[in-house]
Amino acid sequence: MSDLHDLPLRDDLRGQVPYGAPQLDVAVRLNVNENPYPPSDALVADVAAAVADATRTLNRYPDRDALGLRADLAAYLGRESGVILSADQLWAANGSNEVMHQLLQAFGGPDRIALGFSPTYSMYPDYCRDTFTHYVVVPRRDDFSVDVDAAREAIAEHAPSVVLLASPNNPTGTSLPLDTVRAVLDAAPGMVVVDEAYAEFRQAGVPSALELLGEHPRLVVTRTMSKAFGLAGARLGYLAASPAVVDAVQLVRLPYHLSAVTQAVARTALTHSDELQAQVALLRFERDRLVEWLRGRGHVVADSDANFVFFGLFDDRHTVWQGLLDRGVLIRETGPDRWLRVSVGTPEENSAFRAALEEVTA
Ligand SMILES: *Cc1c(COP(=O)(O)O)cnc(C)c1O
Repeated sequence: MSDLHDLPLRDDLRGQVPYGAPQLDVAVRLNVNENPYPPSDALVADVAAAVADATRTLNRYPDRDALGLRADLAAYLGRESGVILSADQLWAANGSNEVMHQLLQAFGGPDRIALGFSPTYSMYPDYCRDTFTHYVVVPRRDDFSVDVDAAREAIAEHAPSVVLLASPNNPTGTSLPLDTVRAVLDAAPGMVVVDEAYAEFRQAGVPSALELLGEHPRLVVTRTMSKAFGLAGARLGYLAASPAVVDAVQLVRLPYHLSAVTQAVARTALTHSDELQAQVALLRFERDRLVEWLRGRGHVVADSDANFVFFGLFDDRHTVWQGLLDRGVLIRETGPDRWLRVSVGTPEENSAFRAALEEVTA
């Protein structure tokens, strides 16, 4: 058998490892920011019926433009954020990872620069690598906010084709004030992508960048059904932008990229979005409780607008991570050295995490 290194692999892929948060079979999994609640029985039944229906025409290619789904997503965002959008401002793909990949394919490329603000989502460098886009980062401040002056300076220096702003940011949980997004939009010569994968978990009164879409043709807001909707396994992400942005990503999307089954599952889940509100409210409540508890125990904790909490500061975070794992609780070792990230689970899972952490740090 030949080894990977014997193959004529691209030079820049040699020695790289695939994306992989450990998928370990432990009792309490709080490591990839999933919604801990499985779909309700009512949703399961509706999805099964919708999939059966879609199956009847699986001999045909799916609706390439996913028009029905895009109209449903526009209606959902209207209810969620109060911003009225039309279907031609929406675009969907297999997870917001694929949406981002398409954006970098369309707007990045050789001799082009994407600008990010670290620490931030670990996949951004990979999208850039895949599209031969040069990735440049500006460090965030100690409280993980974005320094607007540093952002303006970096934009002036690098003239990025794409600026990536995650809000709420992963792994820190920090969201950006709209003034920061506006300042970046005013300074940036290219596209500004606000990754709002965790938007539904934001604190009351925190606005969405969707509110700026009307004024900014180069703004893109990405969302996902993986987190708040509890549909990580279905793979559905989407963007909202001006219709011209949708025209651009259609140039690079693979033919029939979004299966008829995926479209049917997503549309069915959207009809249940109201019942998910209560679940999101519980997760937000549990998040705030967890932040308070950690602070009470002397940990440094970043403010969180997401369904996870970023905390420290540990001299040896790996030992803490391992100690938790030994007690059946899997969290994430990611971001700056002395920090750990824990996803918000069910109240029972969060108690198990608290009990385990208390033992490990005793
Ligand atoms: C989880 C996450 C996504 C969503 O990924 P999907 O491909 O939609 O599952 C996007 N951006 C950030 C920052 C994330 O943490």
